[in-house]
Amino acid sequence: MPDKTMEKLVSLAKRRGFVFQSSEIYGGLGSVWDYGPLGVELKKNIKERWWRSMVHEREDIEGLDAAILMHPKVWEASGHVAGFTDPLVDCKHCKNRFRADDPKIKGTPGQPDAQCPTCGMKGTLTAPRMFNLMFKTFMGPVEEDAAVIFMRPETAQGIYVNYLNVLQSSRQKVPFGIAQIGKAFRNEITPGNFVFRTREFEQMEMQFFVKPGSDGEWFEFWRAERLKWVQDLGIRQEKLRWHQHGKGELAHYAKDAYDIEYEFPFGWNEFEGIHNRGDFDLSRHQEYSGKKLDYLDTTTNTRFVPNVVETSAGADRTTLVVLCDAYREEAVKNEDGADKEELRVVLKLKPELAPIKAAVFPLVNKDGMPDVARRVYDDLRKRFNVFYDDGGSIGRRYRRQDEAGTPFGITIDGQTSQDQTVTVRDRDTLKQIRVASAKLVDYLKEQLTG
Ligand SMILES: [Zn+2]
Repeated sequence: MPDKTMEKLVSLAKRRGFVFQSSEIYGGLGSVWDYGPLGVELKKNIKERWWRSMVHEREDIEGLDAAILMHPKVWEASGHVAGFTDPLVDCKHCKNRFRADDPKIKGTPGQPDAQCPTCGMKGTLTAPRMFNLMFKTFMGPVEEDAAVIFMRPETAQGIYVNYLNVLQSSRQKVPFGIAQIGKAFRNEITPGNFVFRTREFEQMEMQFFVKPGSDGEWFEFWRAERLKWVQDLGIRQEKLRWHQHGKGELAHYAKDAYDIEYEFPFGWNEFEGIHNRGDFDLSRHQEYSGKKLDYLDTTTNTRFVPNVVETSAGADRTTLVVLCDAYREEAVKNEDGADKEELRVVLKLKPELAPIKAAVFPLVNKDGMPDVARRVYDDLRKRFNVFYDDGGSIGRRYRRQDEAGTPFGITIDGQTSQDQTVTVRDRDTLKQIRVASAKLVDYLKEQLTG
C-alpha cells in the first residue's frame, strides 16, 4: 500500500504556511522551496537551539558566518573543482565518483564490463561526462574565465580557511571547534522528497580541531553529543538509527563516518553526519595556499596539523525530521460540544520548537470578550509568538492550531469577566484548565522551557 504521508505533509505544509514551492506562480523551480510564516519560525527555532548548544553552551567552540562566495582556489584544494576539467564517471551503486582515466577502473565506463574500483560491482559506472555539482557564476561585469566563481557546495570550507583567524583572535587552544550555519548550493542530479534533497539548502556544521591520535576519542564524544541533541528535539527513539559508512562509502581521506538516520515516510535516510576527516582539509589548504596551518602545542613544544572531527547537519532535513515525526492523525471528541468523534490532524511539536506558542480566542464576538482577548494577546506577544483568531467555531479554531502545532489555546469566555480566569487548552491531551489571566505569562513560561 503506497504511503500517502508525504503527500499529506506537503499539502499541510502549504495549507498552513510552512513550506511553499519556489516561484510557484510561474510553475515552480525544481527542488527549491520557500519557508512560509510558520516554516521560518520552526526552522529558526531549530537553528537557534543548535547554536545555543554548540556555541553558547561550550567554552571550546566559536561561531562563524563566512561568505557564500569564496576564492576559486578553495575548491581546487577541496577537490570540488576537478569535475570542471576532467570527465568523471559515477558508480550508480555506491555513488562514488572517479576520474574517467582512473587506472583502478577495469573495462570501459558506461559498458557492462566496467568494474567500480570501490564497491567492485560491474556495469554500474556511467559513461564519462563533464559534470560538477557546483553552481558556477561570474564575478565582475565581464563574463570571462578569469572571473569564474562558485556558490559554495558546503559551509565547511569557510571554516577551514578561517581556522587561523579564529584560533588567533579567540585565543583558543587545540582541541577547539568552529561552528557555522549557512546556505550551500548543489546542482543535484536526482533531487527530491520535498525539502530532503534540494539544490539550495542550509547546513549547521561544526569542525572540531584535535591533536592527531586523540581524534578517535573525540569522534566518539561527538557521536554521543549529537545523538543526544537529536533526541532532545523530541524525535521518537524507534525512528532513529546509526549508519556507519562502509569502505565503499567513505571518502578516500576519511578515517570513519557515521550518519544519524531517520525513518522518513520514504524510507531510512541520513540527516546528520559525524565524520573523522583526519588532517586532509588543513593539509590541502596548506598545500594550495602556501600558508602554514600547523599548530604549535606549547605544552609539549611540538607542531602538528590538527585532525578534524566534523558534525554536519542539514537544517532543512532536520526540520523535515521534526515535521514528519510530529505529524499525527487521530480520532478525538468534537470540541464544539457535539456528541461525536472526528478525525484531526495534529503536529505534536515539542512546545519550544512550535512556531506559534499559544493562540488567543474570544469564545464569541460579543459581551466584551474580544476586548479582553485583545488585551491578553497584546500582553503575551511581547514575550511569545502568539496568534489571535476570532473566526469560526471554537472547535474549528482549535483544529487550525492543531495543524500548526500550537501547544496552547487560550479562550476568553463568559466566566472571564466574573473571575478574571481564562481556559488553557492543551494540544495533545485536549484537557482544559482555568488560569488567572494575570498568571498567564508565568504559566506559559513554565510550560515552554525544558
Ligand atoms: Zn561502486
